[in-house]
Amino acid sequence: VTARTPLMAGNWKMNFNHLQSIAFVQKLAWTLKDVQHDFEQVEVAVFPPFTDIRSVQTIIQADKLELEYGAQDLSQHDSGAYTGDISGEFIRTLGARYALVGHSERRTIHGEDDEICRAKVNAALRHELVPVLCVGESLEEREASANPADVSIKQLKAGLADVTPGTEIVIAYEPVWAIGTGQVATAEQAQEVCAALRGALAEQLGEETAAATRILYGGSVKPGNVASIMREPDIDGALIGGASLSIEDFSSIIRYR
Ligand code: PEP
Repeated sequence: VTARTPLMAGNWKMNFNHLQSIAFVQKLAWTLKDVQHDFEQVEVAVFPPFTDIRSVQTIIQADKLELEYGAQDLSQHDSGAYTGDISGEFIRTLGARYALVGHSERRTIHGEDDEICRAKVNAALRHELVPVLCVGESLEEREASANPADVSIKQLKAGLADVTPGTEIVIAYEPVWAIGTGQVATAEQAQEVCAALRGALAEQLGEETAAATRILYGGSVKPGNVASIMREPDIDGALIGGASLSIEDFSSIIRYR
């Protein structure tokens, strides 16, 4: 995988028990074999619920699938009296490559603020997981600010405050108003913010790291809109919620070209 290989990441949210996750990944295997024929350069990852990760790992190993996986969240702590939390160390021990940090549902439903996201980014990196830091503005925030990228840039700078240049991270720009609403940002709107985020990355971590970092778009990505989004120069992949639960939709998104 080179620095900015397009990444198609399916966030299952709280869907699929471990048996359903096995059936899904087995079906996905057909698409992946096909894609390897057609394209050399697209990375596919799934983000199952914690209780599915061991099963997903088993199928990937048994079928030798070119499929990465990650967790939808992780604890900022490594171990101890944190009932219900899951350590990055446990996730990494299950072979996962990624962990989402600061998904808007974590920020809004679970009250995760920029400080918690910063601690979670650091926890992921301590355990050799690549953090996928999610940023994005709500509709009210978009309407209230002069620059639609302001909220995302603030979240990015805070979340990456302790990250050093050259570290592999992934950014996902997910405007909250486009998540699960069917209201997709236009390719131009998405590009505008992703370009601004790359500029902020350059300020914080240097040009070289900014040029090597993948920035994904997320928010109602579907087979019908993925190609136009992927044509934008600062968009290196997609984080897909609803459409990643359908084999047909996720497969055509993976074959977007
Ligand atoms: C998400 O939750 O990350 C997401 C982008 O969801 P959806 O594709 O359903 O809008």
